[in-house]
Amino acid sequence: MYRFSISTKGRSDIIDITSKIDELVKKSKIKEGMTIVFVSGSTAAITTMEYEDGLIEDMKEFFEKLAPEDFDYKHHKRWVDHNGAAHLKAALIGPDLVVPIEDGKLCLGTWQQIVLIDFDERPREREIIVKIK
Ligand code: ZN
Repeated sequence: MYRFSISTKGRSDIIDITSKIDELVKKSKIKEGMTIVFVSGSTAAITTMEYEDGLIEDMKEFFEKLAPEDFDYKHHKRWVDHNGAAHLKAALIGPDLVVPIEDGKLCLGTWQQIVLIDFDERPREREIIVKIK
C-alpha cells in the first residue's frame, strides 16, 4: 500500500495524478494486476478525463450546474461548514478508481488521465491511497 499527499485549492480543483500512479506501478514491479486509487474524505473524488484546459473548464461548469455552491443545503444547518454542494458532487463521482495493469503499465487510453477533484469550499491537503496487486 502506498500513500501520498496533495495540496489542492478546493472549489472543483482538478489535479492530474497519472505520473504519480505510474511511478508507483513501476516501483511495485507488478506486471499483471490492478491499481486501486482512493481518496480519503467525502468532498473529493477520483476519476479519469482528458486533462486539457478546455475540458477542465467544461467540467467545472458542469459540476456547478449539477449542484450549485450557492444553495440552501440542509447540510449547512447541521454543521458550520458550507460545503453541501461538494458532498453531492463527490458522492456522484466516487472516491475510487480501478485501473488494470498489463505488461507493467496502466491500461489507460492516450488521452485518459487519472485526476483528483477537490470539491471542498477551501484549500485542503488530500491523502491518496494506492493499492497495487
Ligand atoms: Zn460538510
